[in-house]
Amino acid sequence: MSHLTIPADLLPRDGRFGSGPSKVRREQVDALAAVGTTLLGTSHRQAPVRSLVGRVRAGLAALFDAPDGYEVVLGNGGSTTFWDVATLCLVQERAAHARFGEFGAKFAAATTRAPFLAPSHVVSAPAGQVAVPEHVDGVDAYAWPHNETSTGVIAPVRRVAGSRDALMLVDGTSAAGGTTLDVSQTDVYYFAPQKSFASDGGLWLALASPAAVERAARVEGGDRWVPESLSFTTAVTNSRADQTLNTPAVATLVLLAEQIDWMLEQGGLAWAAQRTATSAGHLYSWAESRDWAAPFVADPALRSPVVGTVDLAPEVEASTVTAVLRRHGVVDIEPYRKLGRNQLRVGMYPAVEPDDVLALTACIDHVVEQLV
Ligand SMILES: *Cc1c(COP(=O)(O)O)cnc(C)c1O
Repeated sequence: MSHLTIPADLLPRDGRFGSGPSKVRREQVDALAAVGTTLLGTSHRQAPVRSLVGRVRAGLAALFDAPDGYEVVLGNGGSTTFWDVATLCLVQERAAHARFGEFGAKFAAATTRAPFLAPSHVVSAPAGQVAVPEHVDGVDAYAWPHNETSTGVIAPVRRVAGSRDALMLVDGTSAAGGTTLDVSQTDVYYFAPQKSFASDGGLWLALASPAAVERAARVEGGDRWVPESLSFTTAVTNSRADQTLNTPAVATLVLLAEQIDWMLEQGGLAWAAQRTATSAGHLYSWAESRDWAAPFVADPALRSPVVGTVDLAPEVEASTVTAVLRRHGVVDIEPYRKLGRNQLRVGMYPAVEPDDVLALTACIDHVVEQLV
C-alpha cells in the first residue's frame, strides 16, 4: 500500500476531518495572530479578555436563541469535567441516563459511582441505535447526549414526559453549533469548543435554565462537599462577570469567538445545520451507492449530520484506506477506537466545506479502486 497515491487534483482543499479536535478555519487562525501581541498574554481579570468572554457569552445566547432567563455559563476542564460538576451540583438524589455509546456511558458511570447519590437508572441501546430516557419516579435529573460522537447517532432533544421539576442535562458537545434544537427542552445544554465550534479543547460551556441555577444553589447550600473548582454556582457567579474561576486559555476563547461570530454572520444555527446536512447527505448517499460501503447507522433518521460513520466491507481494510489518506494529508477519519469496527468516521462540522466532503469520497473511491 506504500505505492498507492492519490492525484493532487482529487484531494480536498483542507484535509482535516477529525471529530474533535476538528478543523480550525484559516480566518480564525489569522484573527488569533492579529491579537497575538495585544490580547494574548494579558490578564483575564481586565477588560480586553473579559469583553472577549462577554462576546462568547452573548454570541452563544444569540446563536441558540436562548429562552428568557437562560444564561451562558463557562468553566475550565471540558465536557468531561462538566460531568463531575453536574454529578456534584445538579443531581439531587438520583439521575437517569440514556446510554448508546461511549460518551453517554461515561456520564452514566460518573453518577453511578457517586457515593452520595442513589444508583442511577440507565436505559441502553447498542452502538448505532438510540435510547431515550424514560420517566422514573424519584429521578431528579435526566441525561443523554444530543449526538453520540463515538457512533454517529443523533438523538431527539425533548423533555421526558411527566418529569415535573427534574432537570434535563443534554450533552451537546459535538452537536452544538452544527444542528438546530429547542433549548427550552433542556435545563443544561453543555458542550466544549473543539467540535462544531472549531476551537481548542479545555473549556466547558453551558446554556443553563433558572431551574438549573436554583438546583445548584440548593444542592451546594446543603451538606454535600463540593470542591470549588467543580462548583456550578461558582462558575455562574464568575460567568456573570465574564470571568472564569481560574485562568482560561485566551487563545481558545479567541478562536471560539471568531467561529461563533462567523456562524451568526452566515445565518446562524439554521445556516450551520443546512451546511452540515449538505455534507452528511453526500457522505451517506455515497456510502449507500458503493457495494463495499454502507452507513453504520441503519435508521436514516438517526444518522448524525456532524459525525458520519461508514462501515466498509471486510475486503476493504479501513486501516489501509486511512493510512493512504493520512500520507496525503487527509487525516482523522479513523473510527472511534473502542468501537472496534472496520469503519471510517468523518467529522462534518460547520467549518468543513461540503465540497471537501465530496473530494474526500472521491479520494476514498480512488484508493479502493486500486486496492480491490
Ligand atoms: C468529545 C465529547 C466529550 C468529551 O469532551 P472533552 O471536552 O474532551 O471532555 C463528551 N461528550 C461528547 C458527546 C463528545 O463528543
